[in-house]
Amino acid sequence: MLQIPNYPLLFQMADEKAIFCLEHCKGQKIFSFRIPSSCTHCGTGLNDCILRIPPFRLPSPFRDAQKCPCSIVLKPTKGDFLTDYKNSDNLHIGVTNSAGVVYEYDMNGLSFHKTSNWKRCLAIKDFNKDKDFGSWSQYWDFTLDVVSGHQEQWARTRYDEDRHNCYSFVLAFLKALQVPELSSFARDRRMFCEKYILPKTASAAKYITLYRKLMSEPHLVLTNKN
Ligand SMILES: [Zn+2]
Repeated sequence: MLQIPNYPLLFQMADEKAIFCLEHCKGQKIFSFRIPSSCTHCGTGLNDCILRIPPFRLPSPFRDAQKCPCSIVLKPTKGDFLTDYKNSDNLHIGVTNSAGVVYEYDMNGLSFHKTSNWKRCLAIKDFNKDKDFGSWSQYWDFTLDVVSGHQEQWARTRYDEDRHNCYSFVLAFLKALQVPELSSFARDRRMFCEKYILPKTASAAKYITLYRKLMSEPHLVLTNKN
């Protein structure tokens, strides 16, 4: 496995703790890594009382790329979403094939053997929701092989951080897929970001903020505005 020299520890990524949410007092949602024994708002013991919202696990936005076949995947260029990511940080983008192997283009050229670095990523994976997965995934893999087969185009010597980078590879692939609803967005990095990436990163940012606050406080109470 390749490791980025400056970030060796990040590959022993800390497990993500589950965030639980529940509501006892009206409009007072309690978030915590552990379900509290009493309502943190009114103090009532929670073992034997009626909850407005019983405890549930807040869905994490993060996925293991290997379990996301035929997807576009995103992660911070350096470090990890939960521990290191800041809003302005660069994101690295790749494509998974039908077996969940990540194809990615960076300063070392095109590679297919660093999937283990993508255990906590964001995945855009609803491109095939109306199609039969079997034939769609064959077509996806075929197109991915054609695009990544243009080895000169994805040589390390041609990599340019601003003009010929990980996005160039992903957009070239999406263009080659020739899916009508995608092609207009695949033509332009900014449009693609607005349509597919920003909604993902915005919801992940909320989760990351909550997660980091809970690392220093046992629980948070968020009051509903309505
Ligand atoms: Zn209460």
